[in-house]
Amino acid sequence: MHEASPNDLSRLCIHTITTKPLGIEIAIDKYASLGAGGITVWRDAFGKYTPRQTGEMIRRSGLKPVSLCRGGFFPSVDRSRREASVDDNIKALEEAADMGMPLIVLVCGADPYQSPETSRDQIREGIDAILPRAEKLGIKLAIEPLHPVYADTRSAINTMKQANDMTGFFDSPWLGVAVDVYHVWWDENLEEEIIRCGSNDKIFAFHVCDWKVPTHDILLDRGIMGEGCIDIRQIRQWVNRAGFEGFNEVEIFSEKYWKDDQDEYLERIVLAYQYKM
Ligand code: ZN
Repeated sequence: MHEASPNDLSRLCIHTITTKPLGIEIAIDKYASLGAGGITVWRDAFGKYTPRQTGEMIRRSGLKPVSLCRGGFFPSVDRSRREASVDDNIKALEEAADMGMPLIVLVCGADPYQSPETSRDQIREGIDAILPRAEKLGIKLAIEPLHPVYADTRSAINTMKQANDMTGFFDSPWLGVAVDVYHVWWDENLEEEIIRCGSNDKIFAFHVCDWKVPTHDILLDRGIMGEGCIDIRQIRQWVNRAGFEGFNEVEIFSEKYWKDDQDEYLERIVLAYQYKM
């Protein structure tokens, strides 16, 4: 039987949330030992370290800093909360600058007490408020469209088309899109919108995991690549064909796997990365 050659690990990036139980210094050490190329840090992972110290640990490990997760959550019916969100996004930008992170992923937010259209207007206002600072600090922002099941509270940007329309509105080299297979795999316009995104040089990040069947928790039961129904290989081909040359970022939220031995779990991730996508 013909065996496909494995994906090499140079474009593998792991999100710290994937191995949530590990402290940041252990996560950095383990990802580097596995031969991963990069790391994305979640803001809950700093622990006792400052962003600057975390950035230094990453540089010493040889891993490439890929992105900071996450900013966003702009909309609210309450003006003071919208203002607080802008302040928090500015803080995230300063943390990214301290770490030497080139990119912040935006989970844009939504408020169920107003229409998605109003939420999108407020997302536009929020991005408008932080984009000058992002540009000044030299940090890119990536809008991550979220599956429509999250349209109540997590994001009113639910398709690649909506993300493309939003980046098109600003037309800034500092604002692009994070394509996450978990959120967009079901979309009949996916190929077309990925190509549109890439043709404008707007694919800033690519996230992978899998949609388990059945899934027991829409947030915290995500699968390892190859374990579910997403044709990751196909989507990855589209993203690469659209000109994306960055990292394939493994981002898995799983109450189940967070309870497992994290070394064995990481080994499964590496094997799945090599052979299942
Ligand atoms: Zn993601």
